[in-house]
Amino acid sequence: MQDLHDLIKKCSKCRLRATCTQVVPGEGPQNAKIVFIAEAPGEEEDKQGRPLIGRSGQLFRNALKAASIKEDEVFISNTCKCRPPDNREPNPDEIEACWPWTLQLLQRISPKIIVPLGAPATMTLAMRFDFQKQLGGSKITQIAGKPVFLAKRHFYVFPMFHPSFANRQNERRSEFQAHMRYLGKAMNGWLERPI
Ligand code: URA
Repeated sequence: MQDLHDLIKKCSKCRLRATCTQVVPGEGPQNAKIVFIAEAPGEEEDKQGRPLIGRSGQLFRNALKAASIKEDEVFISNTCKCRPPDNREPNPDEIEACWPWTLQLLQRISPKIIVPLGAPATMTLAMRFDFQKQLGGSKITQIAGKPVFLAKRHFYVFPMFHPSFANRQNERRSEFQAHMRYLGKAMNGWLERPI
């Protein structure tokens, strides 16, 4: 896994590398059961080189713990591995440039559960893996918390809110936490589903 991290760290395929401090490939073991994909590193992640460790990361990691999902059994990454200036949303061409890295990470880990956090990550996966029609909507409020099983690819996709969106409203935060608890309860059944 270190070899792939090293390659990702050397990437300069889009403009974001010119303004970020460092590339943040992601963290977690190669045999992770779940891969979480957020949007892009923020200020703290850019400084420390680790994904989801700032304010949204605290909500995310606390929710994981409350759902009895161990940090060492998940891999955490982002659709863009470099911080966009002023935390703007990544542009489509930046997401496109970074997708081969996300794909390589997914191929190495081969998880049975992928959790996109927020609409951009969900739509990025839905377009690349062609499951838009199975989502039952286009808004994150319609699709979060509803698992989709991709039979041909042998994995579940479980879209959730982005933790920074969840952090903005008590109701959304509670839903985010409830979705994580649902994931914590359902994951063993999903992992055992025969291929
Ligand atoms: N927001 C994200 O989407 N990813 C991070 O790593 C941090 C904040």
